Amino acid sequence: MYRTHTCGELGLGNKGEKVTLSGWVQRSRDLGGMTFTDLRDRYGITQLVFNMETNGSLCETARGLGREYVIQVSGIVAERSNKNPRLSTGEIEIIVEELKVLNASEIPPFTIEENTDGGDELRMKYRYLDLRRSNVRANIILRHKMAQATRSFLDGHGFIEVETPVLIKSTPEGARDFVVPSRLHNGDFYALPQSPQTFKQLLMVAGFDKYFQIVKCFRDEDLRADRQPEFTQIDCEMSFVEQDDILEVFEGLTKHLFKEVKGIDFEEKFPRISYSEAMNYYGSDKPDIRFGMRFTELSAIVRGKGFVVFDSAEYVGAICAEGCASYTRKQLDELTDYVKRPQIGAKGLVYARVESDGSVKSSVDKFYSPDELNEIAKEVNASPGDLILILAGDHKKTLTALGELRLEMGRRLGYRDHNSYAPLWVIDFPLLEWDEETQRYYAMHHPFTSPKSEDIEYMGSDPGRVRANAYDLVINGTEIGGGSIRIHDSSVQSLMFKTLGFTPEEAQYQFGFLLNAFRYGAPPHGGIAFGFDRLAAIFGGSDSIRDFIAFPKNNQARDTMIETPAKIKQEQLDELGIEIKKVE
Ligand code: ASP
Repeated sequence: MYRTHTCGELGLGNKGEKVTLSGWVQRSRDLGGMTFTDLRDRYGITQLVFNMETNGSLCETARGLGREYVIQVSGIVAERSNKNPRLSTGEIEIIVEELKVLNASEIPPFTIEENTDGGDELRMKYRYLDLRRSNVRANIILRHKMAQATRSFLDGHGFIEVETPVLIKSTPEGARDFVVPSRLHNGDFYALPQSPQTFKQLLMVAGFDKYFQIVKCFRDEDLRADRQPEFTQIDCEMSFVEQDDILEVFEGLTKHLFKEVKGIDFEEKFPRISYSEAMNYYGSDKPDIRFGMRFTELSAIVRGKGFVVFDSAEYVGAICAEGCASYTRKQLDELTDYVKRPQIGAKGLVYARVESDGSVKSSVDKFYSPDELNEIAKEVNASPGDLILILAGDHKKTLTALGELRLEMGRRLGYRDHNSYAPLWVIDFPLLEWDEETQRYYAMHHPFTSPKSEDIEYMGSDPGRVRANAYDLVINGTEIGGGSIRIHDSSVQSLMFKTLGFTPEEAQYQFGFLLNAFRYGAPPHGGIAFGFDRLAAIFGGSDSIRDFIAFPKNNQARDTMIETPAKIKQEQLDELGIEIKKVE
């Protein structure tokens, strides 16, 4: 027997017992005639004691142990004189009588400690060592708990977990597919699913009523910080439902997870705001509502005073940063540089301070009288001590830029605390999105999303105005989930494909199987998918999803541990009928 207990389990209640433990050497300290060794496993750390006086040769062996050696020890549980309240086993130690080295270890390339000296790259190359670190392990365990809680909630609500295939045909999520060449059918390719979207709809046609799956999805998208080419969804679909039914069940799931995993109760219903409200007040379709700082549009009251920047702008909007009137020139310059970054794209930043006596001092004093400045302050609800920040320009771009500035101010003011959570639903998304480059509409969610019945009449005349039965769950400024009520009527589906510029033949080629299925009695249905990695990161209080994936890819979409993507043998290429073109 390798062990009687784990390294996280012994306490004073076991005093005097003879025990056997196995684990990794975390570190050793030699103090005079004693050697203290921390033995670690998944469950914790237990202190081992080797005494030179009573067992000299054993102590010598212990002194030869390196970090990360795998050992087995037997000994007696004793009370520690120098207790360590930070360890669950901190009241005891093991007076070792027998020691066996099960496996030696080379010196690890970085320290296996919470605060390691290993950089990101090194840790990813030796991810199996990184995963030994207690904080990394805790993230993976958190994820496990969330997956279990999800399964038990959905099972309890009548959902059936069904696996869907991985070698499929293109799915409609709008990203590039990863493809897999077929050996048996040279020249043909499978696509990896961007989501199980079409299959879950087919399961509804098949009468499964409620489906879920915790499932890998693959999207070959351009590299962006914190994106993974493969990621996990909690994917769900339900029949005979309207939008409200879905929001209710999945608000329930979200609350259940917060309660079970974080011990947090959300008594109130999650707020629901429309896409247009989200854009107009927060400049984002995934607003962080841990704090207010909503936008006030100033276009009407600032125009016509001779300030050309405002006069020529499509939109002028402001946020009010409480207590920031004392911002120095340097801080304001920093903010100006921030909004002028190419990613944000504002031309400049106008500010106004509300002084303690209520007077308003601004960077555009030349154009606005004290009364006019006061009116601006009133409009944005600013009090003495507050700083008003104003951006102007093209409508959409300025809303987005103001949204970024709001988030930056929220960060500076400490409003974006990782330990507070503000979920909400964003609803009433537009059905379609116009793309300037290709001069056509794209489905904002995917082509099976149903338009609101009252908006269908605009599909021909003004497609951009049509709203969808689509919704997103947003937590702390991050999109956690999204879904829609689907089209189940073939005439609406044809209209949608037509609006998206598909010929009937193209639609049939790409999604014929689904369209055919819809000819055999499709129930009204809808669903949602949660980004599981991101949800885990939010629960873990981190911005990085990589920390919550056991074996992630790096930001170049590479796995540096297994060294992939990699070349394959010529024989394999030959079998597949593939020739690699030389890229100059
Ligand atoms: N398949 C969709 C997605 O991956 C989710 C859904 O509509 O249920 O975003």
